[in-house]
Amino acid sequence: MNTQTPFNPGIAAVLSLIIPGAGQMYKGQVGGGLLWLICVVIGYLVFLVPGLLLHLICIFNAASGAKNTTGTAESSAPNPKTHVRCPDCRELVLKDARKCKHCGTELTPQ
Ligand SMILES: [Zn+2]
Repeated sequence: MNTQTPFNPGIAAVLSLIIPGAGQMYKGQVGGGLLWLICVVIGYLVFLVPGLLLHLICIFNAASGAKNTTGTAESSAPNPKTHVRCPDCRELVLKDARKCKHCGTELTPQ
């Protein structure tokens, strides 16, 4: 599935602009990048317009995905912005929680 390594969507887009599929390879999707390269080249050879369209989709595809990886990492990991330590059991609980989910202690939402 998705590689969790962060990448620059701008670099990925430029790479795929120069060489179709290079942006995907840069993201670690070597197989997908090769597939894109073949598809775009065939598209250009058969008809110019579908090749251009495929190339654009390829660039868009290379630049996308960054939002996903950073978005999931931000929301899933407890961090000081969204979580506080329960004074009783020292477990991380949501800042606006009124009751600790670990020990049931009443909390004052911050
Ligand atoms: Zn607790």
